[in-house]
Amino acid sequence: MTATRPDLPKHDLLIDGKRLPPGSGEYSTDINPATEEPIALVAQGSAADVDTAVLAARAALKSWAGMRAADRGRILNRFADLLEAHAEELITLESLDAGKPLAAVRRQDLPAVVDTVRYYAGWCDKIHGAVIPTRPDALTYTVREPVGVVAAIIPWNFPLMIGMWKIAPALACGCTLIVKPAEITPLTALRVAELALEAGVPPGVFNVVTGKGSVVGNALVAHPGIDKVTFTGSPGVGRGIMQGAASNFKRVTLELGGKSANVIFADADIDAATRAAASGIFFNSGQVCSAGSRILAQRKVYDEVVERLTTRARAIRVGDPASPDTTMGPVVSAAQMKTVLDYVEIGKREGASAVTGGARIGQRGFFVEPTVFANVEHEMRISQEEIFGPVASVIPFEDEAEAVRIANGTAFSLAAGVWSADIARVHKVAGELRAGTVWINTYGYTDVRLPWGGAGDSGLGREHGDAAIENFTEPKAIWLSLR
Ligand code: NAP
Ligand code: MG
Repeated sequence: MTATRPDLPKHDLLIDGKRLPPGSGEYSTDINPATEEPIALVAQGSAADVDTAVLAARAALKSWAGMRAADRGRILNRFADLLEAHAEELITLESLDAGKPLAAVRRQDLPAVVDTVRYYAGWCDKIHGAVIPTRPDALTYTVREPVGVVAAIIPWNFPLMIGMWKIAPALACGCTLIVKPAEITPLTALRVAELALEAGVPPGVFNVVTGKGSVVGNALVAHPGIDKVTFTGSPGVGRGIMQGAASNFKRVTLELGGKSANVIFADADIDAATRAAASGIFFNSGQVCSAGSRILAQRKVYDEVVERLTTRARAIRVGDPASPDTTMGPVVSAAQMKTVLDYVEIGKREGASAVTGGARIGQRGFFVEPTVFANVEHEMRISQEEIFGPVASVIPFEDEAEAVRIANGTAFSLAAGVWSADIARVHKVAGELRAGTVWINTYGYTDVRLPWGGAGDSGLGREHGDAAIENFTEPKAIWLSLR
């Protein structure tokens, strides 16, 4: 959508430390998903703008990578201070842009963002190689060098937090980067890049090119001046990125979708399990890659689990993200709302029973009722495909073997949960679940210190912790003759 509303704030690209109008002269209208009202005009970047950004990032690489590592860490700590000082501004912007409840962003996203920056600030002067003995007449050792210029392509479900999972380690490793936020949630990435500049990150190190994935994203992936693409989004786009990145053998990290199983055994604390299962699927309106969208309940407690989940779903206060009482906001867009409601129809046609929810709420804003499907069979599409909305599928199982078979029976493998009082069983099942993260008697926690990611349709590689340091560096072997 191209717009000419002079009353709306207008956001240009951020390249080489400056705000630049897009080459196309075009701006899209960013809307508030809770009201459907326009909130800003945002530059539609083009392939030519990507060229400009890549030139700036390449030019900035040598001095950023060559800076004293401890000084890079100090700049990142200043960046964290500024994010904290501007917390309320960022929280408000994120809530407005993505429809997230203010209280949730304040409690979860923003603290995680600051924690991520401080964690990687601490890494800056601890990235090193090793002396590796080979033969007596040589000194052989390794160093870790920045991978180079990074393209970070970010989804709309956690623009700030998932963005920072990429930005902070890339900067810590001495890489320069170009961030491409989702077209519908670009505002916090632009503000965060300004704060990075204010903190002392030199111009050209952290650039933001807003616009469409099919244009800006595509141009980044194809660009010979990009060394690495780090992407979070859908499996379909991820596959295209991997293919495109092959042009110059870019490094690729992909965090894709999920259809995570939350397995509740009859001997579990059913109250705690269903409370966590409800937030596991309804948090952020279900728009979470690791959402526990399949709740597997042992036959003996199946009815009780459905009943408790239904009660919890009905108690969720869906509404204005700015209200402190709201526990669930809208989904992010009209398109996402349609996808979710279409899946509700698919589930009904497949013969599952919608015990609660399943409809849009009101006529303004993209609000969808928290929905619980019972009598879901493993083979149904609502049990196999990612819905990315507030829709829980509750599936019965008989025993441990069947639980594991169902849990592992999708194309995804991002996360899983297991609930039981039997300590031997939870360890055994955790080992058998095909997932990058397994939660035991809890669900949904992430921490930047722990590896994060999956295989299959859930992606390639891991983010967080030292995995991210490996993602953004290349080891170099150095051989010095002592002869
Ligand atoms: P998406 O459509 O794949 O978009 C993700 C990003 O890729 C956006 O910035 C998008 O830009 C861009 N993009 C679109 N087409 C592109 C192309 N041809 N080349 C390069 N970039 C392109 O996914 P989404 O709808 O935003 O997010 C939902 C998906 O992300 C779900 O499947 C979810 O599970 C997954 N996800 C995974 C994780 C994880 O950690 N594993 C976390 C969050 C979300 P536009 O906005 O302009 O389309
Ligand atoms: Mg928006």
